[in-house]
Amino acid sequence: MSQKKKRGKKLVVANWKMNPISVMEARKIFARARRAALGLRNVDTVVCPPAVYLSLFGKSIKKSFALGAQDSFYEVSGSHTSQISPAMLLSLDCSYVILGHSERRAEGETNEIVARKMNIALAQDLRPIVCVGERVRDDDAHYLEELRTQITLSLRGVQKKWLDRIVVAYEPVWAIGATASMDPSEIHGMTIFIKKTLGELFGKKEISGVRVLYGGSVNAENAGHIVREGMVDGLLVGRDSLTPDFSKILESVNRL
Ligand code: PEP
Repeated sequence: MSQKKKRGKKLVVANWKMNPISVMEARKIFARARRAALGLRNVDTVVCPPAVYLSLFGKSIKKSFALGAQDSFYEVSGSHTSQISPAMLLSLDCSYVILGHSERRAEGETNEIVARKMNIALAQDLRPIVCVGERVRDDDAHYLEELRTQITLSLRGVQKKWLDRIVVAYEPVWAIGATASMDPSEIHGMTIFIKKTLGELFGKKEISGVRVLYGGSVNAENAGHIVREGMVDGLLVGRDSLTPDFSKILESVNRL
């Protein structure tokens, strides 16, 4: 069996964050991503625009080109002004949702809140992309403990039957919006650590369907290298998911 077959299709997620600021621009960026994504045999693409744009795009999705949200709440409905229900996302043909992004965590979102959101999103049939990653690196490797705690607490309550729908995005905070990504050989080490931690929590066999992505300053030059050497199941792309380079990122991952 070839390496490509053994490792399966890659997943590339575009996190637009709070961009762009007009519907016109959003339509343009989405159409460009769709054109690049359709027809790629080895990559599934997920585009996560701001929630206000989601209803524009539900009708244009395909199996290999899905729509995701950047957050969802831990209740399905009720008196929660400004919050977005996972059920609402489903009704907009959204199948993925990013949870626990470091930019949400920096605004006070705890592991416990992430776990509540994970559980309700999974119960509603969404595919959560849970973000984990250390804020800084230290010589005593405390960052590994930080990561293990994040994974353990953010996935608390998750049922084994849901594991195949879970995506873990490893995003070292210091590499997000930076000038360079983490070194691919180090990413490989972290991928192993994350899978080992998940295996300890749920069982090695049970986690075989969980995909682990890398995010943090991915660009058209480093994308292929990161996936190949880092042995990740795909990428989470911030800044460059808004630019024409996103097509190049998809193509380089597709070529692997
Ligand atoms: C992110 O914020 O999830 C991210 C990966 O951003 P960037 O690609 O811009 O570093």
